[in-house]
Amino acid sequence: MNKDQTIELHKQYVMPTYAPDLVLVKGKGPYVWDADGCKYLDFLSGISVLNVGHCHPKVVHAIKTQASTLMHVSNLYYNENQPRLAEALSKKSLRGKCFFCNSGAEANEALIKLARLWGQPQGKHQIISMRNSFHGRTLATLTVTGQQKVQSGFEPLPEGFAQATFNDLKSCWMAVHKKTAAILVETIQGEGGVLPADPEFIKGLRTLCDEKNILLLCDEVQCGMGRTGRWFGYQHYGIEPDAISLAKGLGGGFPIGAMITNQRLADVFYPGHHATTFGGTPLACAAGRAVVEAIEEESMIENAEKTGTLFMQKLEKICTKYTFIKDVRGKGLMVGLVFNESAKDFEKCLRGKNLLTLATAENVIRFLPPLNIKASQINRALTAIKAVCKEWK
Ligand SMILES: *Cc1c(COP(=O)(O)O)cnc(C)c1O
Repeated sequence: MNKDQTIELHKQYVMPTYAPDLVLVKGKGPYVWDADGCKYLDFLSGISVLNVGHCHPKVVHAIKTQASTLMHVSNLYYNENQPRLAEALSKKSLRGKCFFCNSGAEANEALIKLARLWGQPQGKHQIISMRNSFHGRTLATLTVTGQQKVQSGFEPLPEGFAQATFNDLKSCWMAVHKKTAAILVETIQGEGGVLPADPEFIKGLRTLCDEKNILLLCDEVQCGMGRTGRWFGYQHYGIEPDAISLAKGLGGGFPIGAMITNQRLADVFYPGHHATTFGGTPLACAAGRAVVEAIEEESMIENAEKTGTLFMQKLEKICTKYTFIKDVRGKGLMVGLVFNESAKDFEKCLRGKNLLTLATAENVIRFLPPLNIKASQINRALTAIKAVCKEWK
């Protein structure tokens, strides 16, 4: 099938929830190829899904081997990959237990249900989330998502949710009342425009939660799995949340999500409280285990911190040269170039220079290269960015 036939067939049979353009046919490491054979440097990585790059050999091997051995058994049976991945994730984070699911929204849904079940004996159920956040598209997760455009048209929204302002501790204190069970926050807002939380804000949230006996929940779906130069975004802040959600980068391209708790919350869920058919299959967990191993063996987190710092320093130089660029922000390899105007066309121009990125929050170009990106590839991206800047005005 040629490119035009693919597009035609898609338009005819796939719901238009997205507006894709390129037809991609192959990926390897930080590169993808379109149907015309054109090669792109991929600084989008499936929105932080491909943290280990496209078709990482270790992940490919794990999936192939597991697929021909045992793909699915249902959670009515044990499978070795599930506890082994859970152990690895728990030891890197909150030392409690994991619940596996299939997506970021589902992982956040699990956080919400956990908080409600935990809070119920104390008469607490309300969840506070942040304005400008993003937590998913199910009915509960779009309700905690602090963006009108995500909620609009789907009212009435479920009850028991409230919103506070990101990086405004006072607004969080004001939103809390006796029925508050949890505060949910991204330590770096991704869809919201690559906005890192202030250290005082996250530390203050921990204090607030301790004082009021409220759970602190971190959505690590985008900023987790090494993206920011730590295993998890919260690890930049010297605090520990009570539970986190993971998805995107966890499977290296294979769909898998997870909720991880501390020890205090490890046994809140009992049989019958929560479930999902595909959560933690041998196949998904084989992919997850391969991702964790690849990140460690290839020191990708160290690389994310090092190349991320280099990338941001060079972007800052570009920023000072052009008045249409306002700021550079982020952590590790989660980097945003903030414009004084819409950045949508800039994304298109970068694509014209064979660099894939994503404009978000209208005026931010988001860069999410794989964590094993080389300095030479960062430099190649910078060359494309500089060239577009020159042509821009
Ligand atoms: C992408 C994302 C989600 C939603 O994940 P899905 O797998 O699309 O459901 C939730 N939270 C954050 C921070 C995300 O970036």
